[in-house]
Amino acid sequence: MNQQYKRYSQNSVTINIALFSILLVLSLAVSAQREIDDLKPTVLLISIDGFRADYFEIHKPFTLNELARNGVRAKWMKPPYPTKTFPAHYTIATGLYPDNHGMVENNMFDVERNAVFGLSDRNAVQDPLWWGGEPIWNTVQKQGQIAASFFWPGTETAIGGMQPKYWKQYDGNVSNTERVDTLLSWLDLPQAERPTILTIYFSDVDDAGHGFGPDSPETKAAVIAIDQMIKRLMDGLSLRGIADKVNIIITSDHGMAPYRMRDAIVLDEMFDTNDAERIFWVGEFTQIFPKPGREDVIYRAIKAKLPKNAFIYRRHEFPRRFKFGKNKRIAPLVVIPTEGTVITTRQRFERAEREGRLDAVRGAHGYDNDLVSMRATFVGHGPRFKRNFISEPFESVDVYELICRILEIRPSKNDGKFKRIRSVLR
Ligand code: AMP
Ligand code: ZN
Ligand code: ZN
Repeated sequence: MNQQYKRYSQNSVTINIALFSILLVLSLAVSAQREIDDLKPTVLLISIDGFRADYFEIHKPFTLNELARNGVRAKWMKPPYPTKTFPAHYTIATGLYPDNHGMVENNMFDVERNAVFGLSDRNAVQDPLWWGGEPIWNTVQKQGQIAASFFWPGTETAIGGMQPKYWKQYDGNVSNTERVDTLLSWLDLPQAERPTILTIYFSDVDDAGHGFGPDSPETKAAVIAIDQMIKRLMDGLSLRGIADKVNIIITSDHGMAPYRMRDAIVLDEMFDTNDAERIFWVGEFTQIFPKPGREDVIYRAIKAKLPKNAFIYRRHEFPRRFKFGKNKRIAPLVVIPTEGTVITTRQRFERAEREGRLDAVRGAHGYDNDLVSMRATFVGHGPRFKRNFISEPFESVDVYELICRILEIRPSKNDGKFKRIRSVLR
């Protein structure tokens, strides 16, 4: 035998053996994927952070549009005010407006407890005292069912002494495939240990929206990448024979509006910041905690200088339709810009200028919850949902009771109106 041929054939035998083993393992894995034939009514609650209601049309995600066609899609879902991640997610979970569940912003100061909250502060996020109301995972578990969460604000601590049986500490670096595959593995558990409500969370679309604006190719790419994750999830459910048996709810917390730093309002030049004890410099929702006796001075100074595209409110002065302003955690003074504008400091503005970022298009949310740009998403798919149905808009607060109906459990007191959302069910 020619030396070269021999080598080739040896290699090819090795390759064939390797290929055969891989195929064997794969086919074993597939056949080992047991069908689930004892599924109880189950809800899979998916959050795609910052997925604006019109991304279905402008970014054309294939799987999501397919699910919407075979299920229900709301024209849009009205988020709570402020249209921020923690307040809005916890509203979906509890059916309460932020005033009533206490998670009034991603950054907060509680005067009574002299404590600061920030969403990347582990100790704060895992301190149950910040989280009020009864989240859906507790309602479910109090009535004998099991909850699981691969991320959702509020699941990392025992609220009212209770936490989802399966949960994960938030880590943005965990890959989306691991999130999906873990969710599927929870469904593989024997019925007595299997959750009937499972949550999962994806941040990519929000991240891209902030970085490049809602209409950018980067945001489109993030939407398509998450669409692939939804496909992975659906394929996993199909393998288990339950793709049409699970009730899938795909939501988002809020939308996204484009802005440029050049249009920012430089607020620290409009009042004496020494009159404030504490300021949360958040672009869409700047909170000012005045020193004793200095509230009126700050209020008048800002009011006199603020341009037309921003407002200063005392806590109790927010427009009534916001249903916001009773909670003591809201700063005594809040400055909010209109859509497409952010509040900033001279230092931050100049840094953006030095770095050549003034005219770059970015994305922001947190604005008026009646804005078209802040509209959130709702898709329902599965045995309890209508098919090929577009529903009138409803609110994020309505989702809690909807889940209770599907899981056949009693809801806790909440701010939702079931009649606004009931048409999505068969
Ligand atoms: P926002 O500032 O409102 O745009 O918040 C979005 C960010 O919230 C995402 O990029 C995530 O990194 C972060 N986030 C989402 N869920 C959690 C969580 N459970 N714990 C900590 N951070 C979170
Ligand atoms: Zn968000
Ligand atoms: Zn965001």
